[in-house]
Amino acid sequence: MEQSGSSPRGPLVHTLLDDAAAERPDAPAVRDARGGWTYRETVDHSHAVAAWLKGRGVRPGDRVLVQWPTDRRLAAVLYGVSRVGAALVPINPDTRPFQLQAIVTSAEPRLVLTADDRDLAWKEIEDLHGSGARVDSSGVTPEDLAVLVYTSGSTSVPKGVVEPHAQVVFATRALVAELGYRADDVVFCRFPVSWDYGLYKVLMCAAAGCEIVLAGEESDLTLLRRIREVGATVVPIVPSFATMIGKLADRESAPAENRIRLFTNTGAALAPATATRLREAFPGAVVVRQYGQTECKRISVMPPGEEHERPDSVGRAIRGTRVLILDPDGDEVPAGELGEIVAAGPHVMPGYWREPEISARTFRPDPVTGEPRLHTGDFGRLDEDGYLYFHGRVDDMFKRKGIRMSTLEIEAAAMDIEGVRAAGVVPPSGDRDLAICVETDLASHVVLRELAQRLEPLKVPSLCHVVEKFPLTRHGKNATKELAAIIDEVVAARARAATDRAATR
Ligand code: ASP
Repeated sequence: MEQSGSSPRGPLVHTLLDDAAAERPDAPAVRDARGGWTYRETVDHSHAVAAWLKGRGVRPGDRVLVQWPTDRRLAAVLYGVSRVGAALVPINPDTRPFQLQAIVTSAEPRLVLTADDRDLAWKEIEDLHGSGARVDSSGVTPEDLAVLVYTSGSTSVPKGVVEPHAQVVFATRALVAELGYRADDVVFCRFPVSWDYGLYKVLMCAAAGCEIVLAGEESDLTLLRRIREVGATVVPIVPSFATMIGKLADRESAPAENRIRLFTNTGAALAPATATRLREAFPGAVVVRQYGQTECKRISVMPPGEEHERPDSVGRAIRGTRVLILDPDGDEVPAGELGEIVAAGPHVMPGYWREPEISARTFRPDPVTGEPRLHTGDFGRLDEDGYLYFHGRVDDMFKRKGIRMSTLEIEAAAMDIEGVRAAGVVPPSGDRDLAICVETDLASHVVLRELAQRLEPLKVPSLCHVVEKFPLTRHGKNATKELAAIIDEVVAARARAATDRAATR
């Protein structure tokens, strides 16, 4: 497929779709649990959405907040909003009213589409589709805002990452090239468009001219069957999803023919044992490690085929971009040394929506050249060949008895223990010492003993608590606040029990 951005209309979200439709109008484009559309049908539906939005008073520069489940209708809305020159604000259907209100106040959308009025809206859109509605998009420019992606990050108030067409299309094309998506691929996407992981999967499939299967509404139990049924060749994963697929594969009565050629991971580090399990269950599949932040979409990708050469690395800067490691004074450190990971290039977004102060701290142009740069707040190092090693967020680093360590290294050691399905470290705070929460059938003292064989004594937690169901965020990352609350509760219960024992003596 075309990679050069040569469309006369410039790099725009909907031109990704239009270019694919011009080349392969009858190829399958997007499928969900209820059916599928070809590229031509997706274009037609996106025009109908655009006409409907215009009829509802949406104008260029407006925001359209959409809290719909991720299916092909939402894909049509993504392109339809782009055609009218407005910006999509995709919101997870599970977002609670309290958070939604904060986002509405921040985004000031012209239109809010909730799941409740989806069927009614869609009926009107189908009528316009039937009458062959077409919308002119000639006024939309690459600098216009295409999407506002709200992330909760480490603060409690969600921040909207400003994503203009130019940055979105650049990152989309760079990732298609990096991962080698092909026109005959079928990409099985479990993630919602409200998370940039799901959003860019839709766009990357259009850029490659291949098919996306939006599977967010499928039940966990039928996932592997669906993956087989639709003939998926590429499966984006996060660690918890990868573990689930591995387990489902264990339950298959007979090994099925494998069509998956690529698993791509992001969001959190994939334990080597999970990657190995996937390779065993899906012979021939490559497991790609990646690292990214919404603020520039993706930072690095391990080129498929190089996965075994540097097993601890999260890959190289995506093409056309750079990764720098800076010391606290903003100077680059030599290869091998730790510092803050900073991303530079055309994928760096302009900032957070209406948050000038936090934007100025996070998005700091190169002091000499003025090139846009994203300060990630993550620590890492580069090797001599430019491969990146991720060491954790600033928040993941802590000191215990004067020694600096990271939750990630302790969690990695725990995940190395056979039988540990999930692990989350809670750093010391106040009277609470270093603790770890694990999901496993092993006894807690066994986990601690195994950890002691893998870590220096100071890095071994003083408390290990076994949970039945490990708390994860919606995106499969460790839910750190919940983990801390669980440990606090265990510590408090132990203190109460100790007091009771003392009282009865
Ligand atoms: N933007 C990230 C990526 O795609 C996902 C994340 O925010 O964790 O790599």
